[in-house]
Amino acid sequence: MTTTARKVDGGYVLNGCKHWITGGGVSKIHLIFARVLDEKGTDQGIGGFILYADPEKGVNPEGFSVPSRERTLGLCGMPEAVLKFDDLFIEDRFVVRPPSGFKRGFADLMNAYNSQRVGAGTIAMGVAAGALEHAKRYLKDRHQFGRPIGEFQGLQWMLADMDTAVHASRLMLREAAASRGPNGSAFPDIMMAARAKMYASEAALKVVSDALQIFGARGYGSEEPIERMYRDVRMFTIGGGTAQILRTQVAGSLLGIKTPQTRDGYTAKA
Ligand SMILES: Cc1cc2nc3c(=O)[nH]c(=O)nc-3n(C[C@H](O)[C@H](O)[C@H](O)COP(=O)(O)OP(=O)(O)OC[C@H]3O[C@@H](n4cnc5c(N)ncnc54)[C@H](O)[C@@H]3O)c2cc1C
Repeated sequence: MTTTARKVDGGYVLNGCKHWITGGGVSKIHLIFARVLDEKGTDQGIGGFILYADPEKGVNPEGFSVPSRERTLGLCGMPEAVLKFDDLFIEDRFVVRPPSGFKRGFADLMNAYNSQRVGAGTIAMGVAAGALEHAKRYLKDRHQFGRPIGEFQGLQWMLADMDTAVHASRLMLREAAASRGPNGSAFPDIMMAARAKMYASEAALKVVSDALQIFGARGYGSEEPIERMYRDVRMFTIGGGTAQILRTQVAGSLLGIKTPQTRDGYTAKA
C-alpha cells in the first residue's frame, strides 16, 4: 500500500492514488485505507480514514479528485473510478483507529472484508442461478433433431453439474454468512468467507459458461442475457480478493500459518 497518511496538527494529510474504486466519484462517503506515518515520517501501520464528498453537487474537498473512470468488460452499471489524494487533510475525528492500534490495524480492518467476500460470492452465485434458470428454459424450448435439446443426455449432465455447483455455493455462502469471526466478532469467519467466495466465484464462471454453451450461437449474441452474465461474472474471481489470495488464506487457516505478503524491511515514504 503506497497511499500515506502523515500525522499533522489536528489530523492527517493523505497523499496517493487508488484505482478500481467501486462507486468512486458517485459515493458521498469514502473509507480510505492508508499507511500511517507519524510526524517524523515513521511507519505506524495501516489505518482507515473517512472522507465526505458530494459529487452530485460537484463538491469535492480540497486535495481530493476523481481524475478518471475505469473501462470494464462487464458490470457496466457499476462505476469504477480512480481516486487521487494530493495533501488531502482529514480531521482526527474521521480516523478509524482499530482498538489494537495502527500496527495491528490492517488485520482488524481486513475483518470487514469477510462480509464483503460473502456478499461478492453471493452476487456471483446469483448470476449463476439466473443463468441456470435461463438454461432450463432453453433446454425445453429449443428443438434440434426433432426433439427438445433437454432430451440429450450430454446436456442433461451439464445441467445437473450446474445445479450442483449453484447449490454447493449457496450452502457454503450461507454457512459463512451465519458464522462469526475470532472473539465473537460481528464479521464472518475469515476462512469460511474466503472458501465460500473462492468456490462460488469460480463455480459461477463455469456455470455461466456452460449456460452460454447450451444456448449455442444465441448465447453468444446479445439478445439473450447470457452474454452479459458471462462478462459480468468474470469479475468475481478478481475483485474482493483474487481466487489465488483466497486460496492462500484458506491454506493458511488450515495449516495455522501466515505467509508474509510484504518484503522484510519495507518502509513507506511520505
Ligand atoms: C470491478 C472491480 C471492482 C473493484 N473494487 C474495488 C474497491 O472498491 N476498492 C478496492 O480497494 N479495490 C477494488 N478492486 C481492486 C481489487 O481488490 C484488486 O483488483 C484485487 O485485489 C487484485 O489486485 P490487482 O488487480 O492489483 O492484482 P495483482 O495483485 O497485481 O495480482 C495479479 C495476479 O497475481 C496473483 N497474485 C498476486 N499476489 C499473489 C500471491 N501472493 N500468491 C498467488 N498469486 C498472487 C493475483 O491473484 C492475480 O492473478 C476492484 C477490482 C475490480 C476488477
